[in-house]
Amino acid sequence: MTGGRTVVVAGGGIGGLAAAAALAHSGLAVTVVERAAHIADAGSGLMLYQNGIAAADAISSRLGAGIRAAGHVVGPDDVRVVMDSVGQILAREPIGEVGRRLGLPQVPILRTALRDLLFREAVGAGAEIRLGTAVECYDQDGARVSVSLSDGGAQEADVLVAADGINSVVRAAMLRDGPPQYLGYTSVRGRVVGSALHPMSLVVNGLGLQIFVAPADAQTLYWTAKITAPQGVWPAIGQAGALSALADRLADWHEPVVRMVRDTAPADVSVTDIHDRDPVWRWVDGRVALLGDAAHPMAPAMGQGANTALEDAVVLAEVLGSGAHPGEALRRYQTQRAERVAAIVLHSRRQGAVDQGASRAEALSRDSAMRSRGRKDAATLDVIDWRPGGTGSRPEVDRRGLSSLSGTGSGEAGS
Ligand SMILES: Cc1cc2nc3c(=O)[nH]c(=O)nc-3n(C[C@H](O)[C@H](O)[C@H](O)COP(=O)(O)OP(=O)(O)OC[C@H]3O[C@@H](n4cnc5c(N)ncnc54)[C@H](O)[C@@H]3O)c2cc1C
Repeated sequence: MTGGRTVVVAGGGIGGLAAAAALAHSGLAVTVVERAAHIADAGSGLMLYQNGIAAADAISSRLGAGIRAAGHVVGPDDVRVVMDSVGQILAREPIGEVGRRLGLPQVPILRTALRDLLFREAVGAGAEIRLGTAVECYDQDGARVSVSLSDGGAQEADVLVAADGINSVVRAAMLRDGPPQYLGYTSVRGRVVGSALHPMSLVVNGLGLQIFVAPADAQTLYWTAKITAPQGVWPAIGQAGALSALADRLADWHEPVVRMVRDTAPADVSVTDIHDRDPVWRWVDGRVALLGDAAHPMAPAMGQGANTALEDAVVLAEVLGSGAHPGEALRRYQTQRAERVAAIVLHSRRQGAVDQGASRAEALSRDSAMRSRGRKDAATLDVIDWRPGGTGSRPEVDRRGLSSLSGTGSGEAGS
């Protein structure tokens, strides 16, 4: 059906490796071109929600089983405790009950473990991985796309998938829409073995600061602190500096949370300013398609960046594996993905601002909303109900801010 079609995937992150695995399983000849010399990820973890687990299961049952074995499968009676900074409980979010209802669990997992599983899945399915080489730009005619590489060479393919992250060079060439925007807060992330909090799931709210905690495996907790701050300040102080500055900020917080942060090794910390982009309808230019953060970088408030990248990979493999002409297949991919993900990007931006509680009044309003709702964010429930093949809910798109964007509009692929 695929007639020996070839695909170059730019970037071997979660999105690129998932796409490589899914496309190779669909019979395409895939080469991943990754700029870094090694497939590795920062020390922290991430949350795979039901939509991401469904996507992983669709790529292969072995991948889904591997994720469940390497991560922490949330049990049917588990709750996520939402508390204020001194440990007063605001809500007990029934994350296990949601899993029971949706027929799939949430699985928090270490990034290194997920990346390793995806790498092995991609290679096992026949994908070739080229490390230490960057994609620089692309050119195409009606029949082929030519991908220029940093080693001076070029690779020809039927399709180029741009999974080269938030600062994607392929997106810059395709949409020319400038850099991503800073959202006013940074993130300090870490992992720790042997914390007294293990295996609790927690959200801890402070003033201009929110901490998310989850078990990532049988011994390890991972945590993410989002801190309201000017751009660049926290990344500039490095891992050890950020860890000690965060510990200072937490001085009068709930003691087990403070200890969890203090017990984290600086080498296991990553510091990332949080950016997103306005959603665009155009993800495709002829034989070139954007995927993951290259297409839709978003605030981490809903924990959906990697989950939606896994969804992208499954839909891309469905359309390209169907044997349709590449241009037509990629237009179908864009149609199936852009609207759903636009809603998630916009909701994540709004929820991220709420989560910060940047002023005393905003912090009080956030805490009382979470108390009355009984959870951090009710909209997540709609989003995680996605399933391959178009089943599951489709969140209502909030079109505020969409109409004037470059690359938005008809959803037509370009040249
Ligand atoms: C604080 C925080 C918490 C988060 N928590 C969650 C969560 O709980 N759940 C969730 O689903 N998501 C979460 N995310 C989002 C998630 O991490 C990202 O959406 C996801 O990692 C994106 O994957 P990607 O493969 O698209 O991009 P990336 O992970 O950025 O991978 C891009 C890859 O491309 C390579 N590359 C870059 N340029 C080139 C080039 N020119 N040529 C070749 N290779 C190139 C890079 O080296 C990299 O390997 C979080 C993000 C943050 C910041």
